[in-house]
Amino acid sequence: MGDSFFNCCYVPPHPPGEGEPVRSRRTEIMASQSTHIPSDKRFIIFFDFDETIVDETSDDMVVQAAPGHHLPGWLKDTYHPGRYNEYMQRVLAYLAEQGVTESDMRTIMEKLPTTPGMLTLFQFLRARPPQDFEVVLVSDANTFFIESWLRRTGARQLFHRIFTNPATFNKDGRLVMRPFHSHDCPRCPDNMCKQVVVRDYVARRTQERGRPYQRIFYVGDGANDFCPALALGPRDVAFPRRDFPMHRLITETHEAMPGEFKAVTVPWVSGEDVVQRLRKLVAE
Ligand SMILES: [Mg+2]
Ligand SMILES: [Zn+2]
Repeated sequence: MGDSFFNCCYVPPHPPGEGEPVRSRRTEIMASQSTHIPSDKRFIIFFDFDETIVDETSDDMVVQAAPGHHLPGWLKDTYHPGRYNEYMQRVLAYLAEQGVTESDMRTIMEKLPTTPGMLTLFQFLRARPPQDFEVVLVSDANTFFIESWLRRTGARQLFHRIFTNPATFNKDGRLVMRPFHSHDCPRCPDNMCKQVVVRDYVARRTQERGRPYQRIFYVGDGANDFCPALALGPRDVAFPRRDFPMHRLITETHEAMPGEFKAVTVPWVSGEDVVQRLRKLVAE
């Protein structure tokens, strides 16, 4: 229970405060976390994970560990739209029953290919002065998949925060994933609305800092990246992967409801396209 926020956000252990007023463990951890991020940063950049940072979908790739590298039809038939998180839990249970181990899954995750130009983008962010970017990952994958890949590639340190579904191995060696939160956004799957995540995070950080960020950036590809991008303002930049669902939804919204989508839109094919635009914006 109390560890769930650590599991979903990979915050370094922090000594619990003594004599603090009674409040939920989650609030306590979130509050103490904030001391780890300096308040002098100019920008926040949010990243999706699957098909944005890595050029695959981790949930699909983990199936490689199944016997014959595929799932049986009866299991695939249990998928219901909007209930993807629960379906994935059944997939993980099946993999465990088939003897797939933590190490097998980690090996697959470590081999997920990086999306073209993404490492160049990471290098760019790392090389900027420390007061430039607060870097946040928001993903509907899970802590274990993401952590495996980030640690393998050495990119873990770049991210100040990671918001994703908490996942841990139980005593039977099964990866058990829990929903990130609950929300009432009609656009998003039950377990995660990235707009709620982004809004809450930016609001909380802005309050802590006592001033707004200069700009907010969001790099993504999927339909569930469209929802958070809708919350961006006219000074912010949405970076949708070109011709992926996020890009199509932005284009459709511009046509159907002009003015509804406010952020500047910069489609990308390579992470280098993102770097090019960021270079101009940080120079302002
Ligand atoms: Mg994605
Ligand atoms: Zn939503």
